Amino acid sequence: MSRIFLSPPHMSGKEQQYIAEVFESNYIAPLGAFVEHFEKSICAYTGVKHAVATNTATAALHLALRVLGIGAGDYVLSSSFTFIGSVNAILYQNALPIFVDSDESWNLSPVLLQKAIAKAPKKPKALIVTHLYGQMAKMSEIMEICKNEDIYVIEDAAESLGATLREEQSGTFGDMGVFSFNGNKILTTSGGGMLVSDNAALIAKAKFLATQAKEDKPFYEHKEYGYNYRMSNVLAAIGVAQMEVLDERVRRRREIFDLYSQRLSAYDEIALMPEIHGSSGNRWLTTLTLEHTDPSRVIEALENENIESRPLWKPMHLQPLFKEALRVENGISQKLFETGVCLPSGSNMSDEDVDCVCKVMERVLK
Ligand SMILES: *Cc1c(COP(=O)(O)O)cnc(C)c1O
Repeated sequence: MSRIFLSPPHMSGKEQQYIAEVFESNYIAPLGAFVEHFEKSICAYTGVKHAVATNTATAALHLALRVLGIGAGDYVLSSSFTFIGSVNAILYQNALPIFVDSDESWNLSPVLLQKAIAKAPKKPKALIVTHLYGQMAKMSEIMEICKNEDIYVIEDAAESLGATLREEQSGTFGDMGVFSFNGNKILTTSGGGMLVSDNAALIAKAKFLATQAKEDKPFYEHKEYGYNYRMSNVLAAIGVAQMEVLDERVRRRREIFDLYSQRLSAYDEIALMPEIHGSSGNRWLTTLTLEHTDPSRVIEALENENIESRPLWKPMHLQPLFKEALRVENGISQKLFETGVCLPSGSNMSDEDVDCVCKVMERVLK
């Protein structure tokens, strides 16, 4: 039996044709027509005004902090229940994270956010909020708090491309948003990211910094330091082809979630990740918690059948790396981590694959 992966790449079929066009143009470089096309297609899909394609979402987050003027000694609020890629950029800037725990949405708690702001030794300059597993965080409340407190909002929408809250796309609520096209995301370019904003000046500055901060001169002049963070035209060609099927991918991921939800509905101990009112997540991964069963038993039983599954993210405030970091916690993300499982959720999974996963789960849970 072939392995069922957690979230493998799912090509549209057009990728190689577009890559062939890149080779014909010979723009095998971190610039070219497909890079611009990819940026435009993200703008068209999400409704954001400006975008810059980067080699990773981690790089895009780093650029966001740089262009917003966050530096050494500044405090940056962050979802604690997230992946490390969300917060590494804070360290690159020698800034100080303050981790905010989750609420019943699994995402950042607006109540604890307010507490974290009050607790900070000096006013935090920015918040990085993650839409975990493709499900929307409470952006209305979060934006209101940050507007009142004059704090920049950066959305880590690495996992949530295509998710909406009141018909508005994730990544477009804050001052800046970030998407990832890493190998396991809903769309992939093998590796890649995108930084978006309605603010033209911020994106222009990010593009400049991502291109070694080279001044607009006929020779090489530099007034500040930059990075080599731009996306390859070859990979952008994959991205353009992937964007053409984004709606289909979201639809299928949501369908897989519904299949699991129906199949496992008899088990009272299972709680699936919720969806906040007015939102529609992309259901990047189907995730759930188990009230009585140790999740490692499910993960092991699946692995024995050559099926990949994983624990939920380990919260940042529990990471050895961040043992000194400030935090406002309530035990919720820790409990989620201790009781949760991510099930295989790739858009190229068949209904039969979902059935296989559920049969194994039923054996363990009974
Ligand atoms: C994948 C991911 C990232 C990092 O994306 P890369 O493109 O791999 O750098 C950041 N944050 C979250 C929440 C992610 O899931």
